[in-house]
Amino acid sequence: MTASRTPHVTGKTGRPELMVILGSSLTVIAILSIVAFLLIREHANVRQAATRSATTIAQLIDADVLRTVELYDLTLQGLIAAAQRDDLKQVSPQIRHLLLFDRSTTARFKGDILLLDKQGEVLADSSLIEPKPGNFADRDYFLAHASNRDTGMFISRPFKPACDCEDGDEWRISFSQRISSSTGEFMGVAVASMRLAYFDQLFNSLDIGTGSTLNIINDDGILLAQKPYLINDSIGKSFANRPNVIRILREGNGSFESVSSISHQQRLYTFSRVGNLPLTVIVALSGNEVFAAWERTAIVISGVTGVLCMGLLWLTWLLCRELRLRHNAEQELAQLAATDALTGVANRRTLDQTLRHEWFRAQRSGKPLSVLMIDADHFKAFNDRHGHQGGDDALRALAKVICANVRRPTDLVARYGGEEFSVILAETDQEGARQIAEHIRKAVEQLPFMVVGEMPITVSIGIATWTTATETGLESLLFAADKALYQAKESGRNRVVTAD
Ligand code: GH3
Ligand code: MG
Ligand code: MG
Repeated sequence: MTASRTPHVTGKTGRPELMVILGSSLTVIAILSIVAFLLIREHANVRQAATRSATTIAQLIDADVLRTVELYDLTLQGLIAAAQRDDLKQVSPQIRHLLLFDRSTTARFKGDILLLDKQGEVLADSSLIEPKPGNFADRDYFLAHASNRDTGMFISRPFKPACDCEDGDEWRISFSQRISSSTGEFMGVAVASMRLAYFDQLFNSLDIGTGSTLNIINDDGILLAQKPYLINDSIGKSFANRPNVIRILREGNGSFESVSSISHQQRLYTFSRVGNLPLTVIVALSGNEVFAAWERTAIVISGVTGVLCMGLLWLTWLLCRELRLRHNAEQELAQLAATDALTGVANRRTLDQTLRHEWFRAQRSGKPLSVLMIDADHFKAFNDRHGHQGGDDALRALAKVICANVRRPTDLVARYGGEEFSVILAETDQEGARQIAEHIRKAVEQLPFMVVGEMPITVSIGIATWTTATETGLESLLFAADKALYQAKESGRNRVVTAD
């Protein structure tokens, strides 16, 4: 209805809702953060426990392999010591064979044990009293020892023996030691082979659960043993180009989580080098298996937390809706309490409040404040002619015309009482107030609805202005406006009079 100020309404717009939304959002964030933190910590605990048990398994394998290699070492040392005795040549071949291979019976899963001279020719064979002629000068271990006197215990690549023996297609590796003269000259090699079934037997004694694997690789990334086999015929094959194997060989000992390039499953790798030997034990636990229980718990906890948070947000939404409804109702009530029911402009109460407010504001700013008192002329007569309903319609039309001429947001139009209206014009001097009053008077005069009767509706307007020069109080200002209105009535009505 008006561009001027609407009746002043007190109320905290949206603040409680904001607090509720903020509070419950923070609560939801806190709940989610705590649950996420606990799940992440539990995941780390599960991983740590799995790594610990994998390390224990790797250490068990380490210890057994070391002991076995030590036995082979002792066997070879005994063979070399016996072979270097001069008096051995004087005994019969049977006694000589017995003395040479005396200590070899202790080694587990042993294959042939050979004594080779510096040309690689077989001097003695643990399986035959009269050795079968043969030359092994092209073998990796022979070449290693011949070229380097500090090779120490050499572990060969896996191989299958080229014989028609019953276990001929069984994988083996060989352990070898160099035979040197007293001056360090290369005299030959003592070599003992071991069936890789040893590792199968060792692995079978350990329970690692389904989906996980145990592996032994050498420093060239060649697989010596695996349980269970991930791919057929993988023994003796090199995996040196797989990223996980590269990392394992580089780090030596440790653990990490990664995807297997063979099974394409998440695995928890724990690995350990076997003493100083060129062997590495790898325990590859299945990620699915290790984290299965954790995953089930995480799903349940996440689900319950999600439902709780959704419930909380839903309650927040309900609460906000109620708060909004209450706020709107309060606003409506406040609006009603501040408004005149008949005309829709501010009522007397609002007028008093606003006038007091503007008065103090003017005192502080020193800017002028004007008040118009508008009274309908001969309204009693109009009422008598057109009835009470017609009078009410005229009052509504009057309010509308006044509002149409009072445009600034800080101005206020109010019904003072009966057929009398007041207008507060903040920061408006006497001349400005007079212009507005004239516009109102003329606009009322020209109201089409009003000119139907023989006596058109008109208004008389009294103006009072406060300026820093007048020094009058608030009561005096209203009184002055009233007096000016009285003068306007006295001097013939339908006019504007300004207080002196
Ligand atoms: P004057 O020109 O001197 O102001 O004469 P007047 O008749 O307008 O003044 P008076 O104070 O004698 O009469 C005011 C009349 O306004 C009395 C009443 O009939 C009418 N009136 C006051 N309030 C209302 C109202 O809410 N509705 C209607 N219809 N008439 C009202
Ligand atoms: Mg009156
Ligand atoms: Mg009147």
